[in-house]
Amino acid sequence: MNDCVFCKIITSEIPCKFLHEDDKCVVFKDIHPKDNTHLLIVPKKHIHSISEMEDGDEKIAGHLLHVAKKLGQDLGLSGYKLQINVGKDGGQEIFHLHVHLLSKLG
Ligand code: 5GP
Ligand code: ZN
Repeated sequence: MNDCVFCKIITSEIPCKFLHEDDKCVVFKDIHPKDNTHLLIVPKKHIHSISEMEDGDEKIAGHLLHVAKKLGQDLGLSGYKLQINVGKDGGQEIFHLHVHLLSKLG
């Protein structure tokens, strides 16, 4: 877990500006944005991937979607995409669960 870049961001070992933080997650900009708005919604708990969620993690996963909705509202986005890559073959590069929020707006 010490090698996890997102854990290092969460613990401020790697400096990063958070657009949102609460007890369960943080939100920051993707370092290589693929759209005008490209945010990452990241749980504070190190969950490797959707495919490795444990019992109880569904509350965290639901919370990430709730935060996405609030971000969409706060940023005034009339539309956006949410994406979760699962596993190497699903395009996942960082093995710490995260939701991409992408929009051509913003
Ligand atoms: P994945 O392919 O795992 O779903 O997406 C990982 C995302 O994390 C990529 O879009 C990549 O640009 C982003 N990323 C990787 N390292 C860092 C980093 O150190 N800081 C930030 N802000 N984003 C990162
Ligand atoms: Zn991690």
